[in-house]
Formats: sequence, C-alpha cells, structure tokens
Amino acid sequence: MSDFAGLSALVTGGASGIGRATAALLAERGARVAVLDLDPSGVDKPLLGYRADVTDDTSVRAAVAAAVADLGGLDVLVNNAGIGAQGTVEDNDDAEWHRVLDVNVVGMVRVARAALPHLRQSEHAAIVNTCSIAATAGLPQRALYSATKGAVLSLTLAMAADHVREGVRVNCVNPGTADTPWIGRLLDAAADPAAERAALEARQPSGRLVSAAEVAGAVAYLASPLSGATTGTALAVDGGMQGLRLRPA
Ligand code: NAD
Repeated sequence: MSDFAGLSALVTGGASGIGRATAALLAERGARVAVLDLDPSGVDKPLLGYRADVTDDTSVRAAVAAAVADLGGLDVLVNNAGIGAQGTVEDNDDAEWHRVLDVNVVGMVRVARAALPHLRQSEHAAIVNTCSIAATAGLPQRALYSATKGAVLSLTLAMAADHVREGVRVNCVNPGTADTPWIGRLLDAAADPAAERAALEARQPSGRLVSAAEVAGAVAYLASPLSGATTGTALAVDGGMQGLRLRPA
C-alpha cells in the first residue's frame, strides 16, 4: 500500500544525505517529489530538481512556485537543507553566526513562507523540519550549530500552534550522528578517519551511526497521513542517544 499516493512533496537539501534518502523514500511510497537544492544536478527522474539557495528569498519563491506548478499542488514540505559549524562561542565571529543562522533557521522560514499558501489547500498538509539532537543535548564544540537547531525546535512548536487549525501539521526529527556525505567530509578531514569513525560509533548507545534511510523513515511517518493526529513533536532518530542513560562501553 502506498502512504503517499496522490500526494506531492518538496524536499529541501534533497540532493544529498538525509534529504536525498527522504526524497527517494517518499517517491517509492507513491509521492510526486520535487527537490530544492543548491546543486540539483544529480537529482534523477522520477524526482524533479530545482536550483535554489535557501538564503535567497527570490530564488526560494521562484523554485517553490515552479515545483508546485509542476507537481500540481503541495501536500508535504520537508525543510531539511542545513550546514554545520564547529567551535565554542569564541571560535565563530558575527559573520559566521549570521551565515549559519541564515541557512539553518531563516532558510526554513523562507521556504515555509513560500509553501504555506499551497499547503493550506491540501487535505493532508504536513511540514517536517530536520532538527538535531544538538537542539537539546549540550554538545561540546557545537555552540553555533546547536543554537540554530534549538531555534528550529522552537520554530517547529510555534509553527505547529499557528497552523494547527488550518490543517497544517508541523513536526521535526532529531537525528543523532547520521552517516551522510556531511559526516564523511568531517571524517575525511580528521588525521585518522578510520579511528575517528570508530570513536564516533563507540559514543553511540547503539554502537553505530544512524543511517540516512532511518532518518528518512521517521520523516516519512511524520509527513504521511498515518501520523494525522501528530503535530508539534520532535521524533528522536538517534540510536538511543537522547533517551537512554547508558555510559559508552
Ligand atoms: P548533506 O551535506 O549530506 O546534505 C545537505 C544538503 O543541503 C546538500 O545537498 C546541500 O547542497 C544542501 N544545502 C546546503 N545549503 C543549502 C542552501 N543554502 N540552499 C539549498 N540547499 C542547501 O547533509 P545531511 O547530513 O544530509 O544533513 C541534512 C540535514 O540534517 C541538515 O539540516 C543537518 O543539520 C541535519 N542533521 C544532520 C546530522 C548528521 O549527522 N548528518 C545530524 C543531525 C541533523
């Protein structure tokens, strides 16, 4: 049975990692899917690709309008595009704070603003924001990134409240460390990537990283009519990092 038969979805940051896995899963489950990304050149049929930068309101509006026209409407927005930042508050200057906040927080606002008029016309409207365990975990060396994801969590709750009577559900997923090209780039930059990967895996209660497909599964649930009574929630997809109180072996 298809959960998304007859529904249309837009996935930002859908050319890589979690977004790519999500776009593929939604399409496999019967949705018509559009991907909005800085570089959609690797997006293959049946997915539709649109080039836009979530920090540029004009490009966001144009891409959302084109995607909605091609899809014939919009039922699901997966607000997923995001970038990382490392360090303490002493390591990132004002320009870096504005740059990362602009992508991770205001970027989601821009896409939601462009999508909401279309979502309101759907019988099954859902927004799923990609947040992170960093929103609440107090991770070291992640001050700026954590602040952006804390804002995404608050934004998710506020949007859920604002749009619940309009029939638009808003939830977020909180992935733990997920095995995506992003984490691959971080590991490649380490002195000993294999040792770094092993250390990262050992820190997970499950002993392994989360897969992009596992995050996509959670996004698909929150995006589908199966979760029709769920709004204003954050679903952890983190191998137990948030909920369990295990000490690493
Ligand atoms: P990724 O780097 O593999 O993919 C991110 C995608 O977003 C890329 O295709 C990129 O081109 C696109 N993108 C970046 N900036 C953009 C912009 N300004 N406009 C349009 N598109 C843009 O990363 P990922 O690991 O799949 O991360 C996706 C989301 O998941 C992010 O929001 C990230 O914060 C979140 N997340 C990731 C992890 C992890 O461990 N990988 C953990 C928690 C949360």
